[in-house]
Amino acid sequence: MKIGFVGLGHMGAPMARNLLKAGHSLTVFDVVQLNVDALKAAGASAAISPARAASEVELLVTMLPSSPHVKTVYLDQDGVLSGVARGVTLIDSSTIDPHTAREVADRAARHGNSMADAPVSGGTGGAEAGTLTFMVGGSFEVFEQIAPVLRQMGKNIVHCGESGTGQVAKICNNLLLGISMIGVSEAMNLGTALGIDAKVLAGIINTSSGRCWSSDTYNPYPGVMDNVPAARGYTGGFGAELMLKDLTLALDAAKLSKQPVVLGALAQQLYQMFSSQGAGGQDFSAIINLYRQKP
Ligand code: NAD
Repeated sequence: MKIGFVGLGHMGAPMARNLLKAGHSLTVFDVVQLNVDALKAAGASAAISPARAASEVELLVTMLPSSPHVKTVYLDQDGVLSGVARGVTLIDSSTIDPHTAREVADRAARHGNSMADAPVSGGTGGAEAGTLTFMVGGSFEVFEQIAPVLRQMGKNIVHCGESGTGQVAKICNNLLLGISMIGVSEAMNLGTALGIDAKVLAGIINTSSGRCWSSDTYNPYPGVMDNVPAARGYTGGFGAELMLKDLTLALDAAKLSKQPVVLGALAQQLYQMFSSQGAGGQDFSAIINLYRQKP
């Protein structure tokens, strides 16, 4: 297929490369020329605007930082909707708030284009390996149409429901993950401060009712597990800044729909404090350092 791709950052670049590897012809755009050049070297053609990247393609994918960038790229004068032909399906894989996802999809529909929100989990490793999970919001017909292409960038492709529900799935999962990581940090810190060995405590939790992904797969306490960010100074993994972004999106969505997110708000504030201390570049499990005494 002829595919347009806008947003060639940490996630977008490897995703676009996987589409090239699958044999598609790609027209790409990014505001950073270096990112465009890297994709050109891999065989893509470059466009001078989102509108041009979207013209003469059969499908368009965007992978942008957040909601304002998505609005700009789709709705501005030189945006996707000013260049794309009616009938071309649009996929936004950025993590943004569900309200913006629905607003942009409505504008696209009025222009004659179906649009799916398809945020991902799996990080840069998953983007490179083509093993991402896609959480797709949009009609079932659109889901069936785009699933084969998403499968060339991911392994697990899930239809979550109508427009916006892909973003809902993504931010609700990360809301829970942000809270559970803080819960595990608190329990691990208290236990070790009270004298129990960290590995023994983690072993008990992981075979008891406190068990969760943050405790048994991604434990934040150093020395408990190998091959997790806690074992390598909290480098790699999922950045605390990205967790802060997702928690803030969840809070914004909760505010608009007047839903309580009591623990989520506390978690967001803890990540905000952590980030303001200059630690936003570390893996999000480093939040345990808010509890631990400095050596
Ligand atoms: P990134 O900042 O590395 O990449 C975003 C790209 O968009 C950049 O190349 C930037 O130049 C480009 N861009 C910004 N404004 C633009 C515009 N107006 N027109 C064209 N290009 C523009 O971010 P990323 O890590 O690739 O993440 C992309 C999205 O995926 C985010 O919404 C993020 O929350 C989500 N996500 C990231 C990860 C991760 O591990 N990095 C994991 C899951 C989901």
